[in-house]
Amino acid sequence: MTAVKQWGFFFDAAACSGCKACQVACKDRHDLKAGIHWRRVYEVGGGVWTPKGKAWEHGVLAYNISMACNHCRNPLCADSCPTKAITKRPDGLVLLDTTLCIGCRYCEWACPYGATRFDAATGLVTKCTFCVDAVDAGEPPACVAACPGRALDFGDFDDLKKKYGGTGRIFPLPEEDQTEPALVIRPHRDCARAEGAAVDVINWEEV
Ligand code: SF4
Ligand code: SF4
Repeated sequence: MTAVKQWGFFFDAAACSGCKACQVACKDRHDLKAGIHWRRVYEVGGGVWTPKGKAWEHGVLAYNISMACNHCRNPLCADSCPTKAITKRPDGLVLLDTTLCIGCRYCEWACPYGATRFDAATGLVTKCTFCVDAVDAGEPPACVAACPGRALDFGDFDDLKKKYGGTGRIFPLPEEDQTEPALVIRPHRDCARAEGAAVDVINWEEV
């Protein structure tokens, strides 16, 4: 394999059933505490019913977004860290050295994806490592390996774009130009109708 220029994730919103196996596999692999989720599955839903003659036409929709750190090409978290605890490796992985973290939480405010997670018990921030030890050994990240619907994949960002096409943003994710996420998404058929409709994340308490 040629050297990876930028590791990235692929997420197929059309294939994701919302089972959360990815979220659980991540928690299990990294022994994460209750309430700390490096990968999260957001349930997006809403829409309205509109009267049509004597009947009602439905415009409701639902899909899921499985999201971890996007190991961005322009990581605002790293730029915001006063102790340089967050750095970007030559292969694109954005990694946090907790021994340098002072718990100021600036990275949390800077990341538009909520990828850095504060641990109140330690007073430090934690985040997805892309399962760097596994990936360096030629194995897939735990979340990717756990998905029963093959809705997740990983690889070189440019290769993922060539293989899957897709986009880096679906509703309600932030615009890509903020951090240039290393993320390729195949949209669910409902994503296009979600913009501007009465749609929101419906499981905020879980994520
Ligand atoms: S998703 Fe957030 S934490 Fe991850 S690299 Fe991008 S800005 Fe940083
Ligand atoms: S790559 Fe590893 S650390 Fe990152 S979300 Fe997936 S399982 Fe968790």
